[in-house]
Amino acid sequence: DITSVEPLDEAELDFEGALRPSSLDEFVGQRRVVGQLDLLLKAAEMDSRTPDHILLAGPPGLGKTTLAMIVAHETGRALRMSSGPAISHAGDLAALLSSLVPGEVLFIDEIHRMARSAEEMLYLAMEDFRIDIMVGKGVGASSIPLELPPFTLVGATTRTGLLANPLRDRFGFTGHLEFYETEELLRVLTRSAALLGLEIPQPALAEIAGRSRGTPRIANRLLRRVRDYMTVHSSESAIDAVNNALALYDVDPRGLDRLDRSVLTVLINRFAGGPVGVSSLAVSIGEDAETIEAVVEPFLIREGLIVRTPRGRVATQEGWKHLGLTPPANDPT
Ligand code: ATP
Repeated sequence: DITSVEPLDEAELDFEGALRPSSLDEFVGQRRVVGQLDLLLKAAEMDSRTPDHILLAGPPGLGKTTLAMIVAHETGRALRMSSGPAISHAGDLAALLSSLVPGEVLFIDEIHRMARSAEEMLYLAMEDFRIDIMVGKGVGASSIPLELPPFTLVGATTRTGLLANPLRDRFGFTGHLEFYETEELLRVLTRSAALLGLEIPQPALAEIAGRSRGTPRIANRLLRRVRDYMTVHSSESAIDAVNNALALYDVDPRGLDRLDRSVLTVLINRFAGGPVGVSSLAVSIGEDAETIEAVVEPFLIREGLIVRTPRGRVATQEGWKHLGLTPPANDPT
């Protein structure tokens, strides 16, 4: 899906890699987190110590991986990348930790999805730079302490609420990434277009920015599709090419894709605009609740198309109107 917040394939990962900023200066937007990180890294450098562990929270595609790479790059440290789902038992983590070089930055994406046993091992590793390795089973079992080199853990998660408190508390700093303003996405796109050698006028880039749901990953992907479209339809004006290319990929003028629209449509048509729980919505659409909660819902809320109430999700007047429908007279929102 063109507006998927996850990378679609290897080619896209290469494309993303080529467009990734490598310093905090080049990183567009997120001024608060960038300022906080900058201070943290500078202070660590002046004290000649390993920077504190960093937790980055926010929806996918906003630059968590990029920031982890920047932390390593700016401090001249090696970077090791892993992810929660790849750490399915404590042994996986032990192997990873025991092979770190001193000062290395360890990035664990989707850290909330790590195995429970590994998570407990990580507490001690983060706090004291050591782990206890269990050998044997039953009465003969014993634990061997293992010293680790100092390292900086950068954990990424979609929501800090998904993390167990003891893990959350062991991070020295938590940065909350916000969706990007359209003007910031325009700067991301201007930078990307220049790197790709594309000459696209600002109004056309602004149109892409406005449909990128606050997410640089989506902005860059739409740019790639627009580039393809322009290659094939070279006689069209840039703005026509943007509009036609995005229509072809089902991205509406507000950036809603098919999944967003089906959530909104089901909420309104099947549940009379709500309130309804996210799991009922998920079942009706045949999508998993986590995707709806982590990806679709934050976007629709931000666009003012739905609201979250204690009794469930409710479509706003804007939400009804976006589908070309008349909102009910007794508006529950
Ligand atoms: P996920 O958690 O799904 O991996 P992420 O939050 O780690 O997502 P990244 O992989 O860091 O997202 O970023 C996705 C793409 O968006 C990359 O190509 C990156 O270059 C670009 N990007 C992200 N943030 C910025 C930014 N602030 N400025 C410029 N480009 C950015």
